[in-house]
Amino acid sequence: MTISSLVGFNFGCQCFTFIIDCFLHSPSFTIVGMKLVKTDKLNSSVRFLPSIDSLLKTATAKNLSAKIGAKRFTEIARSVIDELREDFINENLINNENDNFSREELLEIVEKKLVETAETFESRKFRRVVNATGVILHTNLGRAPLSEAARKAVLEAAGYCTLEYDLTTGKRGRRGRQAEELLCELTGAESALIVNNCAAAAFLVLSALSAGGEAIVSRGELVEIGGDFRVPDVMMQSGTKLVEVGTTNRTKLKDFADATTENTKLFVRVHPSNFRVIGFTAAPDLTALAALARERGVLLYEDAGSGAIVDLSEFGLNDEPVISESIKAGADVVTFSGDKLLGAVQAGIIVGKSEFIEKLRKHPLYRVLRVDKLAYAALAATLEIYQKEKHFAEIPVLRMLSQSKEEIAERAENFIKKLQADLSGFESQTFNLQLAEGASAVGGGSAPLTHPPTILISVRHDKLSAEKLESALRSANPPIIARIENDCLLLDLRTVSRLEEADLSAVLREIAAES
Ligand SMILES: *Cc1c(COP(=O)(O)O)cnc(C)c1O
Repeated sequence: MTISSLVGFNFGCQCFTFIIDCFLHSPSFTIVGMKLVKTDKLNSSVRFLPSIDSLLKTATAKNLSAKIGAKRFTEIARSVIDELREDFINENLINNENDNFSREELLEIVEKKLVETAETFESRKFRRVVNATGVILHTNLGRAPLSEAARKAVLEAAGYCTLEYDLTTGKRGRRGRQAEELLCELTGAESALIVNNCAAAAFLVLSALSAGGEAIVSRGELVEIGGDFRVPDVMMQSGTKLVEVGTTNRTKLKDFADATTENTKLFVRVHPSNFRVIGFTAAPDLTALAALARERGVLLYEDAGSGAIVDLSEFGLNDEPVISESIKAGADVVTFSGDKLLGAVQAGIIVGKSEFIEKLRKHPLYRVLRVDKLAYAALAATLEIYQKEKHFAEIPVLRMLSQSKEEIAERAENFIKKLQADLSGFESQTFNLQLAEGASAVGGGSAPLTHPPTILISVRHDKLSAEKLESALRSANPPIIARIENDCLLLDLRTVSRLEEADLSAVLREIAAES
């Protein structure tokens, strides 16, 4: 019988440590009839576990404590020591060389575990990463990276700022005025309003404009967007009765006309962002739907999802709604995201006719869903770039999208040449770097059929598998996020800025030096 089964059986796990400690000093120990050798080893090792005070005399602990604060250090140190004690009890940690760990050995083990635990916490922090996946709007990596101007604007707004203050009158000003005015100018809409995200925008529109009534939607547009945004659920929450018309693949104007009753408040058009039905399909033209809405006295609301401020069809995005065109077609209200193709921060943008936008602004939910000063600052700075028509050069999302395969090939080739020159000091080859044909992705639930052709850098390492290499890149500083296909690690420079290329090559040099 082992000590763990005996004591575990009688007292449960929690008491166990305590019992062991008692046994350590108890001469009655052998009477219980345990395996002596094993318990001896266990006893001594547990006894030699360092105390927090003795630990604090080591340089590692001193450094760590200074870095993370004494309180946090003590918490982590205690959990590491407790865990080790458990390990001894469960015999997970056995010293093969001789029976007992020495005090010094244990101190070393604890120090190592401390550093590892602190590193794990560190890796969970918010950190900048290099996105080498080629997915432009990578939702897990924060969707759109901000332009230089937007970053500066966020920094400027971080202190006191003119969020709701008019400098000319010295009185209270309208929150978000500049961003709203820019949106009107760029989309041709009469009015604009900004809320937390596009899901919030849809919820506000439905709550303010169709609660208690019916909204008609085509069956082909009852979509689920990532993060559990489901059109039917949002409708229900808003108190709107959903009326489905048409079929999955085909819905006609007549379907809307036939379903309209005196309770109908809205015609809803939802852009099927992350999927496409292809083949025998039909959906009513937005202009025709707007005319029908006017005729029947109902409103037309379009949830454009990503939407686009400028036409992106030359880059393969030919079915993302251009917001100004939706407004021109006669939509009363249009909503879209701030951090998808627009290329700014998370926000839900609502544009449309003043009469309805003002209703939304006065609705109590608007106060719940409004955005903070940093979002307004980033949005306004991004929209100013569109106003100056510099978007393809200065907004990262559009710059990445508009890069040609040839341009990326040239960058990749130069990158490989430079890295190979830097690595020529190493004895073995270490890395085998090749160019490969491939495709990037738009991501963020936009344009699922668009796969911009790209040139990838395939990376093979002498000693590391693709998985090990991927993990080494991910653990680097800054972390590099790459993809693996057919057992090969792939880097797509489309989503790596020129500045970040230096990070990428520094990390690869480090990995080469370590192996
Ligand atoms: C992405 C998307 C949303 C949700 O937008 P968030 O800004 O992520 O809340 C809503 N509707 C459509 C059609 C979308 O594509």
